Amino acid sequence: MSEEREQEQTPSTEVAVAAAPKKVKKIIRKKRPARPQVDSSFITSEPPPQTGTIFNIWYNKWSGGDREDKYLSKTHAKGRCNIAKDSGYTRADKVPGSYFCLFFARGICPKGQDCEYLHRLPGIHDLFNPNVDCFGRDKHSDYRDDMGGVGSFMRQNRTIYVGRIHVTDDIEEIVARHFAEWGQVERIRVLNTRGVAFITYTNEANAQFAKEAMAHQSLDHNEILNVRWATADPNPMAQAREARRIEEQAAEAIRRALPEEFVAEIEGRDPEARKRRKIESSFGLEGYEAPDDVYFARGAQAVNPAGRQGYELEQEQRLMIENGDGAASGEQQQQQSAENNGGIFSSSTLAALKTAKVSTAPKAKAAASSGPLVAYGSDSEDDE
Ligand SMILES: [Zn+2]
Repeated sequence: MSEEREQEQTPSTEVAVAAAPKKVKKIIRKKRPARPQVDSSFITSEPPPQTGTIFNIWYNKWSGGDREDKYLSKTHAKGRCNIAKDSGYTRADKVPGSYFCLFFARGICPKGQDCEYLHRLPGIHDLFNPNVDCFGRDKHSDYRDDMGGVGSFMRQNRTIYVGRIHVTDDIEEIVARHFAEWGQVERIRVLNTRGVAFITYTNEANAQFAKEAMAHQSLDHNEILNVRWATADPNPMAQAREARRIEEQAAEAIRRALPEEFVAEIEGRDPEARKRRKIESSFGLEGYEAPDDVYFARGAQAVNPAGRQGYELEQEQRLMIENGDGAASGEQQQQQSAENNGGIFSSSTLAALKTAKVSTAPKAKAAASSGPLVAYGSDSEDDE
């Protein structure tokens, strides 16, 4: 019996969270070292609770039983992450492509600034290979039967299911308040009388983070939450909405990755662009007009002087970083890591570029990896 079906007989409220104000907590997470969330004695070698029939001393855990989930679901989480107080830089901020700290999300990382994983909330610039979650754990081809665990790489899932919420009149406000702690929320659906909620985050990484952060936590009462992945919404309207969202995301990725004036030209926002380009792109050679990939190329070596702007400086800074200058800000490093792993130029971007029928700078080719959006044909999904 699925929750999706139950909701039909249950009064529910849908709260579309319209363009929540952007609260930027940059100062907190960039300049301050992360603080340890628990004392290091917290992770003593106390034997784990008996959840099986055989204790394996090599792996320090019980096996042979099927009680793990039942046991854990009755035990309150040991800590709770407090983003405002706990966030800060760690060693991971100096390493492009670092993952988020799973123990930080659970509120029990004793390492503070010495941790080799990120101690902050994921943001829109944190992009990971679709085969792993933001904590670097491998996803699977299928979801677990109970929809727990890391999840599947077959579907971008931004929605978590939360059960066993203590039912009160103000359940919607309580749910919204607690789950907004873990990133920008796009939509919340509360099945008021059942104590169940579906929370959709704008970004997949925030859903992953929230799922770990809220597992076995309480809201305003002493409940112990049951947090899982939501199953796909079978409603055709929802599926159309999701398809449209993926398309918009691809378009946004293009806008971020390409020079602004190039985007303006293909979108027809700058009617003077063609004329100006005809004059400028000759580079002093009569009758010559540079092709797109030359004219719009960006970087320190670009032929077009406009394409070199700003890159001389950036290259210097990059050299500083490579020389071990740790003073580089996290923002720069994030950008760098996005470039390094080709994250911005994902397969979705390439797919969208195909439909846009433009040729582009050579760096697009380097990122032609497979991803979840490869099969998505953005030109054939217009029907609703
Ligand atoms: Zn940590």
